[in-house]
Amino acid sequence: MKSITGKTISIIVPVYNEGANISPLTDRLLRVMTETGVPFEILFVDDGSSDDSLTILRKRSSQDERIKYISFSRNFGHEVASTAGMDYCVGDAAVLIDADLQDPPEVIPLLINKWKEGYDVVYAKRAVRPGEGLKKRVSAWLFYRVLQKLSEVAIPLDTGDFRLMDKCVIHSLRLCREHNRFVRGLVAWVGFEQTGIEYKRDERLAGSTKYSFMKLLLLSLDAIISFSNVPLRLSSIFGILAMFFSICIGVAVVVHKLFLGLNIPGYALATAGLFFLFGIQMFLMGIMGEYMGRMYKQVQNRPLYLIKDSQGIMR
Ligand code: UDP
Ligand code: MG
Repeated sequence: MKSITGKTISIIVPVYNEGANISPLTDRLLRVMTETGVPFEILFVDDGSSDDSLTILRKRSSQDERIKYISFSRNFGHEVASTAGMDYCVGDAAVLIDADLQDPPEVIPLLINKWKEGYDVVYAKRAVRPGEGLKKRVSAWLFYRVLQKLSEVAIPLDTGDFRLMDKCVIHSLRLCREHNRFVRGLVAWVGFEQTGIEYKRDERLAGSTKYSFMKLLLLSLDAIISFSNVPLRLSSIFGILAMFFSICIGVAVVVHKLFLGLNIPGYALATAGLFFLFGIQMFLMGIMGEYMGRMYKQVQNRPLYLIKDSQGIMR
């Protein structure tokens, strides 16, 4: 058991057009956190919202100094918003939570209990995900399984961003400045003592998901490419397979010609083979392009995000 007397907690909330959810979430967080007795800050990261989210954040943070915010100059994406929260939070541990109340704040005390037991990362695993369509549930299920097979680090199954991280993990994450980020993967990558608890995910309180199918697909690509070199290796695998097939075909042609006396028109076979190989080559070039595009972005070395306004944080 670790003593957490005198320790503080930061609650980090990425926000993108969540005007209707901010106040109900803040009220619930205040209630839950006050009950725990642990001193805390709530750090909202407004990811370039175009609704009244920022106005609400300004109002709430002017009324209570435990409520702080950072506001981006434009939308930089959920993963980057979480990153900014982790860059500026000051607690001895930080909890990442979505703004839409899908992750119930009442689970936070359970995360804190595990932290007290000595764990550095306590992730909350989704036991059920109501209110999400079959397509999203199936693609999420498949995504976590493919990622686990391909990834070089063990990324826990069915686990979103809702988690508690000790200061040692936050400090390690601050060192990782990659552009196409997959925070869950990075947390798995840094190591330390990690554990999970199961929780029931609620439905979104108001508004609709900010992740279109395309956005999710791109995030999955980032996740797989950041944590696996398997797609690059496909090139060698396909190459070896193609060589094997062409040898088999060659042997078959020779056998037909020499022993069976049959004449096979060569062009049909050659054309089919050419198209097949051309297709494989384009596919593999695309994969290499995905890695190269990310390398180019990294080499440009632009800042991950730009802040236009903030309240309560040290800049
Ligand atoms: N979000 C963000 N930037 C974005 C998209 C989403 O900060 O570009 C926030 C959003 O406000 C929410 C969290 O990230 O707090 C998760 O988004 P959402 O609920 O839309 O994702 P889902 O739960 O449907 O996967
Ligand atoms: Mg959500």
